[in-house]
Formats: sequence, C-alpha cells, structure tokens
Amino acid sequence: MTTTFTEPGPSPALLLLGTRRDPLSERGVDCPGALPAASDPDLVARALAAKEALGERVFILGHHYQRDEVIQFADVTGDSFKLARDAAARPEAEFIVFCGVHFMAESADILTSDDQAVILPDMAAGCSMADMANINQVEDAWEQLAEAGIAHQTIPITYMNSTAAIKAFCGRHDGAVCTSSNAEVALRWAFDQVGGLDGTGKVLFLPDQHLGRNTAVRQLGLSLEDCVVFDPRKPLGGNTAQELQRARIILWKGHCSVHGRFRQENVEALRATVEGINILVHPECTYDVVSHADYVGSTEYIIKTVAASEPGSAWGIGTELNLVKRLALAHPDKSIHYLDDTVCFCSTMNRIDLPHLVWALESLVAGEVPNRIVVDPQTQAEAKIALDRMLALPAANPAKD
Ligand code: SF4
Repeated sequence: MTTTFTEPGPSPALLLLGTRRDPLSERGVDCPGALPAASDPDLVARALAAKEALGERVFILGHHYQRDEVIQFADVTGDSFKLARDAAARPEAEFIVFCGVHFMAESADILTSDDQAVILPDMAAGCSMADMANINQVEDAWEQLAEAGIAHQTIPITYMNSTAAIKAFCGRHDGAVCTSSNAEVALRWAFDQVGGLDGTGKVLFLPDQHLGRNTAVRQLGLSLEDCVVFDPRKPLGGNTAQELQRARIILWKGHCSVHGRFRQENVEALRATVEGINILVHPECTYDVVSHADYVGSTEYIIKTVAASEPGSAWGIGTELNLVKRLALAHPDKSIHYLDDTVCFCSTMNRIDLPHLVWALESLVAGEVPNRIVVDPQTQAEAKIALDRMLALPAANPAKD
C-alpha cells in the first residue's frame, strides 16, 4: 500500500518526552523547564510574540525533518551542515535556537563564535544514529585496529551525523568529516592519504554503515567484499584480524532508524502500482534500496530534484516523512508518494514541538538561556580540524550541496 499526498493532513500526534539520562547518549533527558500545555490555544501567538520581542537577537534554524508547527517559525531551513553554516553567517545573533537534534546544535556551536549561545529547545532531541557510536567505543575500536596492525594505514571519516567527540577523534587521527553530499570526495581524499584506491590503505567510516557502503561501492568502485562491518560489541568488531587486514573500508555498525527501514520490496511495490514513477532516496537507505532507486542524494538534492522535475511526473521518495509531506504540498502538479507507509517521522527530531519552542523563546525573553549546547574547547578545536579538512574538499562547495 502506498500513500499519495494531495492535501494537508492533520498534524502528527505529539510524541512522549524521554525521561532517562545517559551522559554518553544523545537521548533521554528531562526538560528542566515548565512547559506550556500542548493544548494551549495561544501557543502560536506566544511564539510569535516572543520571537518579535527578541528581534535580531535570535535566529531560529529549522531542519528539513522538523514538524510544521515548529518549521513555521524558522528563519532558515536546511540540512544539518547548511544550518550550521547559516548560523555562522549570523554573528550578530546572540541566540541560535536550533530546531534539529543534538549533534547539529553541537556543530553550530563549533562553527559560531563563543559569544553566541546555541540552544536546543528539547535536550531529548538526539539522533539514534549518532548514539550508535560513542567515543569510548570508537577509541576502543581504534586500539583493536592497532593490535590488528592496520591503524597506521587507516583514515577515520565521520558523517556529519555524529557527536562532536567523534568529529574530534577524526581531527586527532588525520581524518575528516563528510556530509551525504560530499562523501565520495571525502572518501577519495582519505584513500589518497594512505596510498590511493589501488593500494592497501583503509578508511574507518563512522557511524552510518549504509552511507559508507553505498559510497564506497557505487561511487568509488570498491566491491562489497572490500567492506567489513565493525560491531563495537564484539571483539575485533566481529571480524578476524585477517578480515580487517584484507578490508578496504571498515564500516561502523550504525544506521539511521528512519532511512534504514525502507526495503527493496517498497521500491518494487511502487513501480508496480504507479506507471513511470521515479524512485528518489537518501543514501542513508540500505544498499539494496539505493541500488534499485533511480536517483540518490542528500535532502537538499531531493528537494532540488523534485522542484526541477516536469509537471505531471511521479516520485516515490525514501526520506523522512515531514519533508516528503512538505514536498507534496509544495508541488501539487506532481504525484508524490512516500516510499513506505510503515516508516514514520524521525521521532527524536520530532521531540522538538511547539511547547518546547515557546518555552525556549520565552525563557530568552525573560533573560534566561535554557538548554545551551556547549562543546568544550579542546573537543571544539579538534573537531574543527576535521570540519576544516572537509571544507577544503571541492564537494563542500555549497553550489554542489
Ligand atoms: S533521520 Fe536518522 S540520521 Fe537524521 S536525525 Fe533522525 S535518526 Fe538521526
């Protein structure tokens, strides 16, 4: 069964807040404030009034996967890297309210000045993918690669969707950050540091195994046999030392809980029901799904591809539901289908709702700075090295984003 969007639907139900605290996780912390009730009919008016009172002092960033009730207040929308750059381009804004998830707010803190406070309206808004690689696990894995005799010929590359600590790890170990737009260039650069694609050097790719595999196999021409998965819960990641030595790319066992759920069967079902449909998916989807799609790219690429397509064209889109819904509403002249009805919103991103945004903005008006995201100076400096290496890559050019 497929969903076709033709008109605005009801707002998604509000999601429960996390209640646990785990210092190594992006998830599960309490909101320290007194939240307005979700049923308060004045929430929109309160958000508008607080935003107006703050004026130029506040800059609100909205990720593409964010709820409509929140995105309506965003000064800019974009993917995580674009938003961090947008924040850095607004030095006059005292407060950056980041309606996204924790790792994105960390990146914004790294790229903005110390005078600017980056605020995450709900600290429970983490990313399940970023949570799949914590720094202790990664340090431990690196030691195991050293014991297997390969750390010296391995470059770590981390996807933007990782904690600042993992980005700093890459900065310390001659590696870099990448986005879904420039993963190919980042991997080519990394292999060049250790003897080139034809040599025996390796890349440790964190934390999304699917983006790493899709890029290595489909864009760099490596084989599936060149890839091994490193499971941090198993000795040597579940491999033998020989398997690690033979591998060219070591994929961390992480994935996106939203994109990882699309299946090849969803692609086949849509093709069977909608004649001439174009399948457009994000590279965080599995290798099977990506291999059966017509177009593959970042959220910015997905938005631009649909916008540039012919009226009357049909699209089956495999990415987060809030974004697909907005694309359908923005392009009523096109037939837009969600790739799989059973895949839902990014639940952690959706923890940021209107009550949390109102609470954050009204706190700022009252002179309090709530939920400030602060990356410590050493982590910041090392992470910036890895981010700067990415910025030096040609594909980091915004025009290609
Ligand atoms: S969509 Fe996936 S990668 Fe993006 S924030 Fe949500 S869980 Fe993380």
